[in-house]
Amino acid sequence: MTLTGNLLIGQRAVPGTEAPIRAIDPATHQPLEPAYPGASAEHVAQACALAWAAFDAYRETSLEQRAHFLDSIAGQIEALGDELIHRAVAETGLPPARIQGERGRTCMQLRTFARVVRAGEWLDVRVDPALPERQPLARPDLRQRQVALGPVAVFGASNFPLAFSVAGGDTVSALAAGCPVVVKAHGAHPGTSELVGHAVALAVKQCGLPEGVFSLLHGSGREVGLGLVNDPRIKAVGFTGSRSGGLALLHAAQARPEPIPVYAEMASINPVFLFEHALQANTDALAQGFVASLTQGAGQFCTNPGLVIARQGPALQRFVEQAGEHVRQAVAQTMLTPGIFSAYEAGVAALAENRNAQTAASGQPAQGPNQCQAQLFVTEARAFLADEALQAEVFGAASLVVTCDSDEQIREVAEHLEGQLTATLHLVDADLASARALLPTLERKAGRILVNGWPTGVEVCDTMVHGGPFPATSDARSTSVGTAAILRFLRPVCYQGFPDALLPQALQQGNPLHLRRLLDGQREA
Ligand code: NAP
Repeated sequence: MTLTGNLLIGQRAVPGTEAPIRAIDPATHQPLEPAYPGASAEHVAQACALAWAAFDAYRETSLEQRAHFLDSIAGQIEALGDELIHRAVAETGLPPARIQGERGRTCMQLRTFARVVRAGEWLDVRVDPALPERQPLARPDLRQRQVALGPVAVFGASNFPLAFSVAGGDTVSALAAGCPVVVKAHGAHPGTSELVGHAVALAVKQCGLPEGVFSLLHGSGREVGLGLVNDPRIKAVGFTGSRSGGLALLHAAQARPEPIPVYAEMASINPVFLFEHALQANTDALAQGFVASLTQGAGQFCTNPGLVIARQGPALQRFVEQAGEHVRQAVAQTMLTPGIFSAYEAGVAALAENRNAQTAASGQPAQGPNQCQAQLFVTEARAFLADEALQAEVFGAASLVVTCDSDEQIREVAEHLEGQLTATLHLVDADLASARALLPTLERKAGRILVNGWPTGVEVCDTMVHGGPFPATSDARSTSVGTAAILRFLRPVCYQGFPDALLPQALQQGNPLHLRRLLDGQREA
């Protein structure tokens, strides 16, 4: 397919009229063709109007129709073949194997949500039958189901050009819930976005859905992005990116005459707690596993282990030496964008200049533009507790080891942390009591707590929580990865005293969709 640089407003490919975005190959620092002129306020309004016009019809598509649509998107993405891989590699600097893996994950995610839609459990049907004889008051017939919130604005993430971008986790969970989607493409990968956007638009057409179910806009966050968030027809927002970007969208959404939810995934440093006996027993393996997780993908994962917390002593000293050795061998890797590279350099410089932190090791120097040199720093718990700057996210392969003098101080450090996507515990049986004492704190701080693993690598499944208290996300009650992500874009409606003929199918007396209902307080088999 020839890239056009156009916007996709429903089924129409339209040239933008505002300042153009041009991808830069971060490996060569060269601009890539074509240019993507930005959407105007009029284009934003057109996409939102189409999405609104599509909403009522789309949210009442049958479970099978909607599931088939999600399966079709996966098929269309696969049909793009190597062109998608080549373009995504050029726009992100990520290796082809990573992009191929991400394409697989994206299509698996779409098919997983197709399964979820077909099963219909997400409708969460509840029925309280009428009790006309009840004293002192009769009870009317009451029924509840979940309905879609409305059109959703999705911001493509820079660090997952497929799995969290145009047809990624936010888009698929919104579409699964019955919400039309308008995507604001990330300026770092507009060509990848155009290819995937075209695949989604083809699936919309093939499935005979209203065209407004999906649109794709290019342009700046402050104009196109805020334009979407402020449009009254948009009813929710999905975002992954910086703390400042997420907060700007959150504030805009709350300042609307009708405030709307923003599901923003922002900053997390993902503390790793190395308990004393585990550290003594497995020092070298832990150092190796930690640095592998830290440097994977140039550290550009939201679950990257940016903080290690442990009791000081010979085992921790050895861990730092061993981890330092692995860091020194780590080859510099190209980062996603020149902007992300500069932010990494600034974050690392701030730590290097902070008199409370010492540089323990630096990775292999850069051999080309925008390459991330891995870094390991060490600080003491007292300094960490006194200096907020030490827990700022440095997006990339940099981490800070915090040395503590007691379990109590470890708990103090944990209490001091901001909200996190993950918290990791490394332990053996002899550490269970220490770990148990820390758990209540970690449950308040993190969305996912893992034992004897590493936080990078987020499974797409029914139990996953990729969320957490602020600033990990803007809404700790939700997850952006896994099938529970659909819940973000639903709300309950209660139908009281309805004749059967007027009820939506999911709630009808004969249960034609064969759903497992909560009937008069009992879950049906
Ligand atoms: P970003 O700067 O937050 O941009 C993400 C999206 O939000 C872009 O579409 C951007 O539009 C838009 N945006 C940003 N600020 C905005 C504002 N004030 N108003 C309206 N829209 C706004 O994130 P990024 O480009 O991916 O990377 C920058 C930094 O974000 C990284 O260095 C890293 O610190 C952090 N990051 C964190 C994660 C994570 O998972 N924790 C992931 C990726 C990035 P534009 O097109 O105008 O840029």
